[in-house]
Amino acid sequence: METEDQIKALPKLEQHIHIVGSVRPETLLWLVEEAGVEFPNSLKEVEQFFQYKDFDHFISVYSKVNDCITDERQFERIVYEMLEKEAQCNVKHVEAIFSTYDHVRRGLNHGLMIKALNRGIRKAREELGVGCTIRVDLVRNYGSEVGMKVLDLIEEEHENIVAIDLGGSEGGFPPAPYKEAFKRAGEMGLHLVAHAGEVSGPKSVWDAINYLGVERIGHGVSVSMDPSLLGFIKKQGITIEACPVSNVKTGVVPSINQHPIRRFYDEGLSVSVNSDDPSMFRTDMNQEYLQLNRELGFTVVDLFNISLNAVASSFLPETQKRRMIEEFQKEYLKIIA
Ligand SMILES: [Zn+2]
Repeated sequence: METEDQIKALPKLEQHIHIVGSVRPETLLWLVEEAGVEFPNSLKEVEQFFQYKDFDHFISVYSKVNDCITDERQFERIVYEMLEKEAQCNVKHVEAIFSTYDHVRRGLNHGLMIKALNRGIRKAREELGVGCTIRVDLVRNYGSEVGMKVLDLIEEEHENIVAIDLGGSEGGFPPAPYKEAFKRAGEMGLHLVAHAGEVSGPKSVWDAINYLGVERIGHGVSVSMDPSLLGFIKKQGITIEACPVSNVKTGVVPSINQHPIRRFYDEGLSVSVNSDDPSMFRTDMNQEYLQLNRELGFTVVDLFNISLNAVASSFLPETQKRRMIEEFQKEYLKIIA
């Protein structure tokens, strides 16, 4: 097998993918039609729409996609199609991010959305053999009171929800006010993650660790600016969910070959590779892995180690993790044979 085919064949686990960010262009056109909005109206217009000047512009496009989702049932198709793509990249398990309040504030019902997602997830498990759990993003822009309200919603309907996250505009909304919400989520048995160090400096990551007690950091690009933070993350075994293509597309990092994931990996940090918003950034898990090989010199075994990191730091139960690691090793031996 050629190196690139080996990389595509590697078993993978995705820890950081937004369900709305994986809406396919054709599916967006269907949503646009159902919503009765004017733009985008063709695949060409979707392509233009998915070009970003900077991070804030990306957030505004993302919000316009949210406007197009008008029926809870639409999530069944959206998540199924997301998992179909993942299965094509030999992803075995996905920890998908869902910002329920983005839709609740637009009049949709949390419980019905979670039920629709789980219908799509069950169908994908049966037909494609790919697993998926849900992590709910509190979205920092809405404030900590809404964060508490989202936890109330999770208490009402929590099937397959395993974690919470804090995404949104990192710059204007630091982690500290969410301390109580994260404490409560921990008491509810949920795992804790935050987007941090994506557009803001190391302090944002320190705050996510110190105030929120996160187990994993989404992005963590600016960890590379602070050696003491890097050392602390390594010592604590906190995982960095790297999203290299996303960081280039939003202008956070100038190019893949300048992405700090190389350094994180070389320093022995637990780091995973993820597609973030694959449709909006025109990427997928194979592309992420291939880019690391082409631009940063990651070998097949390096990339397999990254797959193992992702399983080891996933939110799967321990027995399932051990089983998956064994399966990954068996597949790997076949690939390199
Ligand atoms: Zn993200």
